[in-house]
Amino acid sequence: MQYAVREFAKNRTPMSSIHIWLDATSIPQQNRPGQALAISSLPAYAGLCDLFVVCAPDAYHKDGNKQCNLASYSTRGWCRMELLSKVCTTGIRGTYFLSGDPNNPKLEQATREEFAKIPLKVFNAKFTCCAMKHEAPFTNCDRQQLQNVALTLYAGCVKKHQNNPDLKDVLVGMCADQDEFFPPTCIHTTKTGDETRELFGSTISIANDILGLSHEQLLGLGDKSTSTGSKTAPSTAAVSPDVEDSTAVSSNVVEL
Ligand SMILES: [Zn+2]
Repeated sequence: MQYAVREFAKNRTPMSSIHIWLDATSIPQQNRPGQALAISSLPAYAGLCDLFVVCAPDAYHKDGNKQCNLASYSTRGWCRMELLSKVCTTGIRGTYFLSGDPNNPKLEQATREEFAKIPLKVFNAKFTCCAMKHEAPFTNCDRQQLQNVALTLYAGCVKKHQNNPDLKDVLVGMCADQDEFFPPTCIHTTKTGDETRELFGSTISIANDILGLSHEQLLGLGDKSTSTGSKTAPSTAAVSPDVEDSTAVSSNVVEL
């Protein structure tokens, strides 16, 4: 992160004028009401920042010594949500990836081709709360906390995509299979067993009606699930995150 800040300061702005939003410190970790407010503000911060840097050099996590890099970054639910917040508000403009050897990292501007390879399905990704089987202090599932943010981003993307090809790409990704992007239910894992809980339910169907997105428009954006009628009768397919990697690396994201 320090390397990225110094590089940008060299060519653009004096260090004294740079303000940094860093998820690990800018989102309260202990104070739950403060955390909820900070999470709700993600799209606003993402839309206002000049630069968004994914800091994911090759490294080993301090807990568990697992390998971390750009590939592991993209498996994390929080990382996907932050990236989604950025691209749904401004497209990929100002987005950079820092990766590779930490002693000689690559700092590259994101291209549409590279970006297309990064999965953005937040609710299928890994969350520490799920890996910890929702034991204290992870009793609330982050996936439920992030629903409103995802809906806000989706609505913004629907409204603005015609003027921005990047947003159109993101929207096509969100619509390619809406039941996967916005799962109607999820598997809630606990030490005593798993249970199926409602996640989005029929909210997306209602949101599409409010946004004026017709069945035909959704099909045009690539939605396969509309043809099954699942928009009016939510499927019972549930999503369960892969809990193999229980370490969070969401602090890798820096917004300048
Ligand atoms: Zn969870």
